[in-house]
Amino acid sequence: MAAAARPVVSGGAGRSTPLSEPELQHLRFLRRLLALPRSTPAATILAEAGQPPLHARWLRQAARLWNSLVTAPEGSMPRLFVQAAAAVAVDCADVPPQRQPWAAQLAHSLRAVGLTFEPLHMDKISPDSAQQATLRLHLARVTQETPAHTRLRHYFCDVRPECCSLDGYGRPPYVTEVRERRCRRGLTELRTGMHWGAEEQGRRTGTPREQRVCPHCPALDGPGGIEDTRHILFVCPLYAAERERWPELFHEFLGLPPASVPLSAFFQQSNTELAALAAACRKKARDAVSPQ
Ligand SMILES: [Zn+2]
Repeated sequence: MAAAARPVVSGGAGRSTPLSEPELQHLRFLRRLLALPRSTPAATILAEAGQPPLHARWLRQAARLWNSLVTAPEGSMPRLFVQAAAAVAVDCADVPPQRQPWAAQLAHSLRAVGLTFEPLHMDKISPDSAQQATLRLHLARVTQETPAHTRLRHYFCDVRPECCSLDGYGRPPYVTEVRERRCRRGLTELRTGMHWGAEEQGRRTGTPREQRVCPHCPALDGPGGIEDTRHILFVCPLYAAERERWPELFHEFLGLPPASVPLSAFFQQSNTELAALAAACRKKARDAVSPQ
């Protein structure tokens, strides 16, 4: 029984350690399900799916297992088992977490996400609290440790600031409102920051950010600058016809400098129209690079 519990409680500790194979499999499954680009950051994949990290689910299941054991009748095998597990969990603070008895690993995992737990007390654990505390810590790390001009900063701070809190975390409506994956591909790319523009293409080739300038502006008498999501949506003359085709998407933001347009508000408009705009812009750029 302890062997069965061990994989459940492992992974609930801090996330400075590399992801385990089950966590990588979980991310690969979600990424393919949502048709996200291969280089999508793990936190973005989870947020687009509205899923907590897998280790949050493990901790929730571990709490349920613990509760079933400590509420078993006095003298029963489950009760004797958990009492023995709690007893051997004492005085192992100097042992590496992965080598501790499973009850000590559970305590370590709960403390790592800010919850108080003492195995010998035989108290029940709130499964919801365990999962939410883990997700809260995950989101705090994502938003606090993300440098400027990264895909994560773009997604969590500019596009979806609401999902940095537990109340706002969840699958974004566009995933279900634009069900055909090929129809939402352009929108997905602009939202996640992994778009067709020079900012992202230069990131993949290691080009310094200041050199990731728009290749279209010089020939179109455009202002130039780094070809990021804002440049594509609000600045570049390459997409002038697309802006005129969906004027209602830009009406609210007319007169605002591109850097001041709240991307979160822009992307909360009609998802079908946003997806159509993004698809048209994506095709325009590809045709411009490779004229038919
Ligand atoms: Zn341009």
